[in-house]
Amino acid sequence: MQDLRQLDVTYLPGIGPSRAKLLKEELGISNWYDLLYCFPYKHIDRSRLYMISELSTDMPFVQVRGQFLSFEEFGIGRKRHLVGHFTDGQMVMDLVWFNGIKYITSNVKLHRDYIVFGRPNAFNGRISISHPDVDAADTLSLSKMSMQPYYTVTERMRKSGMTSRSVERFMTTLLSKLAEPIPETLPGYLIGRYGLMPLDSALRAAHYPSSASQLSHSGMRLKFEELFYIQLSIMRYARARSANRSGNRFPVVGNIFHQFYSCYLPFPLTSAQKRVIREMRADMGSGRQMNRLLQGDVGSGKTLVALMVMLIALDNGFQACIMAPTEILAEQHLETFRSMLGDMPVRVELLTGNVKGRQRKSVIQGIADGTVQILVGTHAVIEDNVCFHRLGLVVIDEQHRFGVAQRARLWKKNPVPPHVLVMTATPIPRTLAMTLYGDLDVSVIDELPPGRKPVKTVHTYDDKPEILYKGVEREIMAGHQAYFVFPLVKESEKMSLKNVEEEYQKLQSIFPHFSIGMVHGQMKAAEKDAEMERFVSGETRILVATTVIEVGVNVPNASVMVIENAERFGLSQLHQLRGRVGRGAEQSYCILVTGPALSKETRKRIQIMTETNDGFEIAEADLKLRGPGDLEGTQQSGVAFDLKIANLARDGQLVQLARDAASDVLDRDPSLSLPENAILRRRLDELSNQDEDWSRIS
Ligand code: ADP
Ligand code: MG
Repeated sequence: MQDLRQLDVTYLPGIGPSRAKLLKEELGISNWYDLLYCFPYKHIDRSRLYMISELSTDMPFVQVRGQFLSFEEFGIGRKRHLVGHFTDGQMVMDLVWFNGIKYITSNVKLHRDYIVFGRPNAFNGRISISHPDVDAADTLSLSKMSMQPYYTVTERMRKSGMTSRSVERFMTTLLSKLAEPIPETLPGYLIGRYGLMPLDSALRAAHYPSSASQLSHSGMRLKFEELFYIQLSIMRYARARSANRSGNRFPVVGNIFHQFYSCYLPFPLTSAQKRVIREMRADMGSGRQMNRLLQGDVGSGKTLVALMVMLIALDNGFQACIMAPTEILAEQHLETFRSMLGDMPVRVELLTGNVKGRQRKSVIQGIADGTVQILVGTHAVIEDNVCFHRLGLVVIDEQHRFGVAQRARLWKKNPVPPHVLVMTATPIPRTLAMTLYGDLDVSVIDELPPGRKPVKTVHTYDDKPEILYKGVEREIMAGHQAYFVFPLVKESEKMSLKNVEEEYQKLQSIFPHFSIGMVHGQMKAAEKDAEMERFVSGETRILVATTVIEVGVNVPNASVMVIENAERFGLSQLHQLRGRVGRGAEQSYCILVTGPALSKETRKRIQIMTETNDGFEIAEADLKLRGPGDLEGTQQSGVAFDLKIANLARDGQLVQLARDAASDVLDRDPSLSLPENAILRRRLDELSNQDEDWSRIS
């Protein structure tokens, strides 16, 4: 069979150059393969006819068989519309068109049988349907039509007269042209073992299923395949890596670690912290390169874990570095490490854009000659031309953007690649993690340090600020500090977002006795740092901020987080922001302030926030509400792939199944060299050529 990608869509009757151009530009479809894999977003069961007397406005799409009695035109210009009086023989309803009027009046005839299809609504107390599909009853075979596919069309396509029905017609033509079955892309033994539909039938049924259950069977086959190849590609890569990539062996846990552990550790480790340190210690002692993701909710104590793991590197004669996403965070890490290490003879230095002149030269010199043992910096600084004497471990903090490609670049810095630890508080649901970080081993800190009281979260509307201000005042009088967070600096035209600067003035007049600081994204880094510094030291009691404080900042004395216009934040952002409080032993509060009119989805988000503090639960909910493409971190990760069919939120079990299947295949045939797996090798090659994203993962 000819490769469907070689066949241009214009070879199909009905698709000329201008339609081909539109398909290409709007849907990215240029050949038969693209078209075949352009799946309907829904099917509607059209096997049933309704009587007008049965219709009500809460029904989804319905169809009625009957005849047009007459057409009437009303209005002029934009108000112009056409009403067709349509009867099923018992009652009459109105069918309304606001555009395409000419097409209807010149093509639709009175007193002939038609089937009309659309969503019923009420107009002047009577049931009507706007812009129904109209088909001559004799051309429509209802039994064949039982599940009608609906395809996405864009505004531009619609304007050029290309509807879902047009795409459907192209599809019918295409399927009728495919004389031979579409070649199978999974080995027969997998199809048998998992009871999958063959590819040819699955593709046909995806467009024209004979029943809902056939549709779901077809979907299952196509999703499985998609997920299976992702997992196979990631796992093949991960296995090759762990087999080949030798790393520095850290055989000992020595003096530095032990001294710190017994004399300097400010509090006992939680058992989760101990466990993850043990896991990393095993990695680093194995002689293979560690590539580990450390997940732990905000405030779970990842920084301390990072420090202790770095001390193991030092014990083995290596340097370690930690990269933070912002300069503020890097400086905070430096502070934390220096104060925790106290007078231990460990040289910790900072390298960010703020470190200049002689200091910078001395730090870079120290990195090169090995006297700087722990380097703290932003990843921008460390990524370029800093030369380490003997780098043994890199920790990447709060950096979900650090995908496979970036990590691979790091490894190339040394002949023997350093161990890599990626830390994130943005909880990633399991199914997504398996896909996004499938090449990393994962450690989880699933426990907060003792004595933490869960943050109390409440929702209030912005028309009653007095109670809120009273509460904040009480907390500050008790010696605590508060954050006020706003979504944007400048008011955008239409949305009534509060202006941080204005708000700052307002809060000053409300709290004249407290000193208030402000940080936002348009301040210079030095100004911002100085403001943060004042808040950290307790000089300012309230910090008015945009989301620049979102990640990592640690001010345990802050006990109130007020989030204004909370409806404008995503769930994981809200969770990160809330994580800025509740870091000490005191009861902390998070107040979500919103306007009165909330969409259903926003209401749900707010409700989730008030009901749970569990980051994983929130991440799962977020994935369900927004879909994986939007999830923070996925898009910038460098491994953003767009799943065409499967949905990581809904298809969790299939992800697991696909992963098990891939693992099974590789257990028996690691190099995929068995004859029955030739098909897998070929397909992997094909996929990695075809799509940038795939090649990045593999
Ligand atoms: P995150 O995981 O969000 O990076 P941090 O490392 O900033 O969290 O830790 C949050 C706070 O918890 C810090 O003030 C830290 O000193 C404290 N902390 C960390 N580990 C423990 C522990 N085992 N017991 C008590 N407090 C701890
Ligand atoms: Mg942190």
